[in-house]
Amino acid sequence: MPGEMSGASTPSLVLDVIRTRGPISRIELAAVTGLTPATMTNAVRHLIDQRLIMSVGHSESTGGKRRELLDVNPTTRYGLGVQLGPESVQVVVANLWGAVVGRIGVAGTAGATPEDIVRSVTSAVTELLSATSLGDGLIEGLCVAVPGPHDETGAIVDTSSLAALEGFPLGPTLEAATGLPVRLESAALLSAAGEVWTGAAADSRALAVVHLDGELGAGLAVDGRLVRGSRGRAGDIRHLPVDPAGPLCRCGQRGCLAVMGTPDAIAKRFHDDTGTSLTAGRIAARAGTDPRAARAVDEAVTAFSRGVVAFADALDLDRLVLSGRGYGRLLDSYLDGVRDHAHALGRTHLSVAVSANQRDAGAVGAAGAVLRAHVDAH
Ligand SMILES: [Zn+2]
Repeated sequence: MPGEMSGASTPSLVLDVIRTRGPISRIELAAVTGLTPATMTNAVRHLIDQRLIMSVGHSESTGGKRRELLDVNPTTRYGLGVQLGPESVQVVVANLWGAVVGRIGVAGTAGATPEDIVRSVTSAVTELLSATSLGDGLIEGLCVAVPGPHDETGAIVDTSSLAALEGFPLGPTLEAATGLPVRLESAALLSAAGEVWTGAAADSRALAVVHLDGELGAGLAVDGRLVRGSRGRAGDIRHLPVDPAGPLCRCGQRGCLAVMGTPDAIAKRFHDDTGTSLTAGRIAARAGTDPRAARAVDEAVTAFSRGVVAFADALDLDRLVLSGRGYGRLLDSYLDGVRDHAHALGRTHLSVAVSANQRDAGAVGAAGAVLRAHVDAH
């Protein structure tokens, strides 16, 4: 599984170009992909045989021969993507264009047992397929975007926000419950995949999606390829040290990005200062009138901005994208904070944006990963 997304096959590269630029002729395809005519012809034939692309007519004649145009055949295969978050679980079904054709949200994982989560995902899938009238035969599989790292057996590891699932064989259990092939992938990496596959990052050479939904993480894509690192944990920015005098993190260090820069850090700081427990969103709403609320928000946004811009510098990124429900009402504060910090440091090459699928980027990327794996496997 790890190789599928980082080293795409020739057919899936050709399919990507057709998805993002179609309708397109073979000659244009060869020019864009740089493939030899023979390799390109084989890849196109393979995709037509799989009914993944089709002829959609001919270009207008410009004096020469009219060219056959190819485009994606979007209705032959669908992928299911699931995003596990503490506040909600999102399930989407996407077609080969990467377009979401149905989505549903159900109760989040906070306080849920592994069995609860499996039951709730399974019934959400059934409901979604019934609502979209898509039969089982059209569904290629299901990919679960998990908030943190996972191991090869399909179990989640080292994820404070989903501690109940640690060591639980989520992949195999869901496979048995749904009857579909199931894979697990980091939500941050899938969000980065979504940016690449939908063409949203077409002008970026090196990007990171900083994903926050229960857990903080970054997904990396360089030259259109996803970067996993040696253990599949590239972009695990939770324990970047931001302040050696900061609060203790569960990893044993002080002042990690995860305990300094997140909305949870805002809530904790405000509680330490005032003795009052409020959500980060409510604290932000008070920031105009309460200096202690303003300070808690400012400190976290500053820590976050310093951490992620330093991370972008170290990897020479040209784009940072924020995605995930975890930013909540503070999304604009974080966006402005990162932009201002990058600007103050003169990082004019670095663009900072919010994902087009901000609330379910992991699920959308997951549905795309299912289809990508299908193309690579056939
Ligand atoms: Zn730490």
